[in-house]
Amino acid sequence: MSFGAPTSPTLAYLLLGSNLGNRAALLAAARQELATTAGDIVAQSGLYETAAWGRENQPAFLNQALAVRTWLRPEELLAACQAAEQQAGRRRVEQWGSRTLDVDILFHGRQVIESPDLTIPHPRLPERRFALVPLAEIAKALRHPQLGLTVTELLAHCPDPLPVRPWPGELGA
Ligand code: ATP
Ligand code: CA
Ligand code: CA
Repeated sequence: MSFGAPTSPTLAYLLLGSNLGNRAALLAAARQELATTAGDIVAQSGLYETAAWGRENQPAFLNQALAVRTWLRPEELLAACQAAEQQAGRRRVEQWGSRTLDVDILFHGRQVIESPDLTIPHPRLPERRFALVPLAEIAKALRHPQLGLTVTELLAHCPDPLPVRPWPGELGA
């Protein structure tokens, strides 16, 4: 195994989320930041709105999936994601609490990582419709390296009952 710099870029998939402040503007700023720090954004889903998952007593989230062509190793990509969160003024540290910006790594190529600070693929992806719906928009046929299922298949098996709505809705809400 080599620990040197990667010799080719990897396609990583990120999920952006925001439920505080001007959510759409925060996601736009995060895309701009990540395009500079993480790599080229080669695909991006639309925005989707979902009631908060895990802790229900908080505002609804806007989410968006990105495909990023990156030269960064997973731990470096995590640092870039966390820097974007800081840039967005993220304050609260409680898990699943409200935040101006959350950036999770869903996949980093076909790598599987289970370290104290980083689990890839993201362990809760299969149980989160709010992550699978935007991801399916840009990567239907992407196959989970551990489960062997495509994103479309994960969505078909997803038990999450929370509706995920395209945003803005038809009335421009
Ligand atoms: P969840 O991980 O269930 O979506 P969360 O996004 O609210 O919860 P955070 O408070 O943002 O959780 O992050 C907690 C820690 O999760 C981070 O400090 C980071 O080290 C770790 N982490 C582990 N795997 C990942 C991953 N794939 N992407 C982003 N962070 C991860
Ligand atoms: Ca998250
Ligand atoms: Ca996170």
